[in-house]
Amino acid sequence: MDKTADLHVHTIYSDGTFSPLEVIDFAKKVDLSCVSITDHDAVGGIEEGISEGKKQNIEVIPGIELTVDYNNIEVHVLGYFIDYKNPEFLKRLKYLRNIRKKRFLQMVEKLKEFGINIEADTLINKNKVSSIGRLHLARELYQKGHVSSIKEAFARYIGDGKPCHVKKEPLTPNEAVSMINDLGGVSVLAHPLLLRNDDLVQELIAQGIEGIEVYHFDSSDSVKEKYLALAVKHNLVVTGGSDCHGKAKDNVLLGKTKMPYEVVDKLKKYRDEKLQR
Ligand code: AMP
Ligand code: MN
Ligand code: MN
Ligand code: MN
Repeated sequence: MDKTADLHVHTIYSDGTFSPLEVIDFAKKVDLSCVSITDHDAVGGIEEGISEGKKQNIEVIPGIELTVDYNNIEVHVLGYFIDYKNPEFLKRLKYLRNIRKKRFLQMVEKLKEFGINIEADTLINKNKVSSIGRLHLARELYQKGHVSSIKEAFARYIGDGKPCHVKKEPLTPNEAVSMINDLGGVSVLAHPLLLRNDDLVQELIAQGIEGIEVYHFDSSDSVKEKYLALAVKHNLVVTGGSDCHGKAKDNVLLGKTKMPYEVVDKLKKYRDEKLQR
């Protein structure tokens, strides 16, 4: 059977529900040959992923998904083949996760204005290893019956621009790109479709982002064609992945976006050529 890859997967180290081991077990079950662990502002799951992957013959590419701010718009930048042990980088990530904690508490405060009391400390303690964020909060709101779905939690309270949403201290796209470059990695614009603004996509590419996530579980054929054409025009690396969050969203997406392994070969080739430059 041909080898396949999913280059966008979350674990408990950010807002997914799968441990790295569970990601590997599930990847095996759905016949993936390669996954990239791309947690938000965190790399804690990579080592375990790689070692469990070795046992089950699944290749794990070290990755990350960084949140950046571009003119007040939240943008996600993926980084692949990063040196995930770099001490300066680890320090920076810890700082970003601390900001997430403070912001989590601020969102919890805002929810109080709507008569909603969330036990923030309990939640933070329960998710000690995680980049705590909105999905944790949304799940709690749902589990405690304050909303009837995760989607509603975002639509009513914590989605962008909603009354209890608090922004994080931003990195700029440029900073994220140079961070990833310094780590020997390749930067990729995550799920461009979700930005719903193609001029913005072009502007972000002009900031030095080297690739584009053309394949995402929710993209239609016409969307994929559009971004593929953009990739050709700007000579971008093309990637794809499910953005699986384990069971944190409606259903497990791992295996729903299977890329031909050729995508990984091209990504590696791009990285190698870049390192030689
Ligand atoms: P944060 O990093 O804390 O700002 O949270 C962003 C995360 O929340 C994203 O990575 C998604 O996992 C999740 N998210 C954002 N919007 C939605 C939505 N409408 N429905 C479900 N999950 C969402
Ligand atoms: Mn997420
Ligand atoms: Mn994202
Ligand atoms: Mn993601």
